[in-house]
Amino acid sequence: MARIEFDDVAHSYSGRPQSEADYALKPIAHTWDDGGAYALLGPSGCGKTTLLNITSGLVTPSQGRVLFDGEDVTAMPPEKRNIAQVFQFPVLYDTMTVEENLAFPLRNRGAPKAHVRKRVRAVAEMLELEGMLGRKAANLGAEEKQKISMGRGLVRDDVAAILFDEPLTVIDPHMKWVLRRKLRQIHAEFGHTLIYVTHDQTEALTFADKVVVMDDGRLVQTGTPQELFENPAHTFVGYFIGSPGMNFLPCRIEGEAARVTPEVAIPLPETLARRAARLSGALELGIRPSRMEVAPTADEGHCTATAETVEDLGSYALCLVTIGSRRVRVRVPEGRRVQPGERLGLRFPQEWVRLYCDNELVE
Ligand code: ADP
Ligand code: MG
Repeated sequence: MARIEFDDVAHSYSGRPQSEADYALKPIAHTWDDGGAYALLGPSGCGKTTLLNITSGLVTPSQGRVLFDGEDVTAMPPEKRNIAQVFQFPVLYDTMTVEENLAFPLRNRGAPKAHVRKRVRAVAEMLELEGMLGRKAANLGAEEKQKISMGRGLVRDDVAAILFDEPLTVIDPHMKWVLRRKLRQIHAEFGHTLIYVTHDQTEALTFADKVVVMDDGRLVQTGTPQELFENPAHTFVGYFIGSPGMNFLPCRIEGEAARVTPEVAIPLPETLARRAARLSGALELGIRPSRMEVAPTADEGHCTATAETVEDLGSYALCLVTIGSRRVRVRVPEGRRVQPGERLGLRFPQEWVRLYCDNELVE
């Protein structure tokens, strides 16, 4: 296993990049810690596969160095890197049996027979493939085929890391959940570095200890699910994580408050207000819909808002409200009935108010 470091790595698929826009991956410094369970999360086209393929060696970055335990492997081909990679769609040999497919990565490296048998059995059991070991892969469904692909990634116990590139796309929601839990168990048992790529926040947040969020070729934040939820480092993380995402209100600082409309100023922690007052960029106040509070009456709280729409989601309701010309979403707890058109008093608890300057969190 290994600690995998990216030293000023960037990649452009165009032979002659002219501007930043020509880079699928902008320059990054990043480390995958040995034994970590990571999710790499971001919208389609943001560079996740590029970053993964640079890690495995399928893509050589146009700039920078990749280090495994301090050793420069930038020019080293994938087969020498000791990394297992599972792709979005099944990669296996149709003419081989399930057993032969699972054994292939080990036999190919000349592993002893007894070891191959033991590992194939263990992986088949983990993925519930024991019943079909003798069948030809060609005759199986997409889901089984993808399980075999995953098994081929998991069968070697000597790899530096296992990379999964949106591996559950072809798998139905319940099986997805089962397989994700299995991957967690495998991680706990074997301690491989796991990097799991997804564009689905639920998948990322339920799988990983650390989530790396990407947008437009950049790593915007690495953190635990809780850190990403409570302290988004960038407005992109605020609205990409959480459903719905964080509310953002353009504002300016007045004393110890953030003025969000001519009528409404939200009090800020003193140090935050002082820091923000010195900044010159565009300021926004950020708060999660679940962290705002609806006061008992319209006259209490920091401002009065008008409910526009109310969406009942079972244990809570999600209410779209207007504050002057601004719109925000508020989570209304069970037991509190809100009607469209109703006037509401809203509280912005200081501990949950964040400020962003040119989209970056003001610390
Ligand atoms: P993701 O996996 O997050 O969807 P990718 O890493 O596949 O993103 O792609 C990042 C960007 O690089 C996209 O704009 C994509 O069109 C471009 N890209 C990816 N692979 C290639 C390639 N082989 N040649 C040219 N452009 C590519
Ligand atoms: Mg991809």
